[in-house]
Amino acid sequence: MSITKVPSESDTIAVRAGLESDTQHGAVTPPLYLSTNYTFEGYDQPRTFDYSRSGNPTRQILAEAIAELEGGAGGVITSTGMSAVFLVLQLLKAGERILIPHDCYGGCFRLFRSFAERKIIEFDVVDQTDEKALKIALDKKPAMVWVETPSNPLLRVVDIEKISRLSKQSEAIVVVDNTFLSPLLQQPLSLGADIVIHSTTKYINGHSDIVGGAVVAKRESIYEDLKWWANCTGITGSPFDSFMVLRGLKTLDVRLERHNSNAKRIVDYLQAHSQVEKVYYPGLKDHPGHEIAARQQKDFGAMIAFRLEGGVENVKAFLSGLKIISLAESLGGVESLICHPSTMTHAAMTIEEQTVAGISQNLLRLSVGIENVDDLIADLERCFKQCQ
Ligand SMILES: *Cc1c(COP(=O)(O)O)cnc(C)c1O
Repeated sequence: MSITKVPSESDTIAVRAGLESDTQHGAVTPPLYLSTNYTFEGYDQPRTFDYSRSGNPTRQILAEAIAELEGGAGGVITSTGMSAVFLVLQLLKAGERILIPHDCYGGCFRLFRSFAERKIIEFDVVDQTDEKALKIALDKKPAMVWVETPSNPLLRVVDIEKISRLSKQSEAIVVVDNTFLSPLLQQPLSLGADIVIHSTTKYINGHSDIVGGAVVAKRESIYEDLKWWANCTGITGSPFDSFMVLRGLKTLDVRLERHNSNAKRIVDYLQAHSQVEKVYYPGLKDHPGHEIAARQQKDFGAMIAFRLEGGVENVKAFLSGLKIISLAESLGGVESLICHPSTMTHAAMTIEEQTVAGISQNLLRLSVGIENVDDLIADLERCFKQCQ
């Protein structure tokens, strides 16, 4: 069944999810249901919803929309992206192994490591683009394989189809963190993954005014498990945040077009700049994951990482020139953001762990927004002028 009246393309689903669902007044936009609880029609006659932790009409529309966009059996909306990760970890039994990428989102890494330190799970870290290392790690029979592609902050690209195929041989559940692209640019379930997670805080909401998460399962049985654990642990998303994300979702496709085209212009500018040591962007032909990205993604996204010439002094000087782009963590909003992964997003990793992940002191990460691209380039030019 489709969330729209007739089966539609993704960009139509994103715009029309939940429209005209209000049978009482015929509201065009779905109402925001803040009510904690819902009456029973009578003795032993529950309605669709009874209590807002377990289920909420506004949240349900968002869950169905994201699930349909990802091509899954069902979705759960969580309070944050991290609670989406936490929810997925509930599928593991004590002592089971999870295989994670060496450069996954810092917060995910911290959660996996903390669970491992408390002996709740075991975890192995591997560069998933290194097929030999990956196969050795899979020989340890992990129950779950965690994939993040493109990865944060270096935009490494993992072949979802291939890693799913290899992982299935050891019967592992494959989870893909699809935050950097959204379902409009990449659909991991169609490439063999079992679960997709999102920090909806990023592109899906897109306006940097909520935190939220989503988990979508390909199979009904896994979805039911996730739904049970979401209610049990109480990590479901708030109705208001769900309403906001549903609103953001409507413009996701047009935002992405502008994000992507701005990013390409900025990559060209950085590539040509003498004070840039290296640019990381999957759209570049010499990027090691370029061919895979071109195959499995609809576009290359709007996240860019680059290394400045010189040391940390140059990074400080560079950042002092900013007049438009904000120095802040997070990504995927309409506004351009720049961050220094080593001291910001990835500060929870030790210096050794950062080095393994390729996070050096001169690395900067750019989340390209939808402003006028010439203004953004002028801003970067001001920053370069501050450097020696
Ligand atoms: C932000 C982010 C998360 C965590 O999401 P929150 O909404 O901040 O809890 C997880 N994975 C990736 C790739 C992210 O960028």
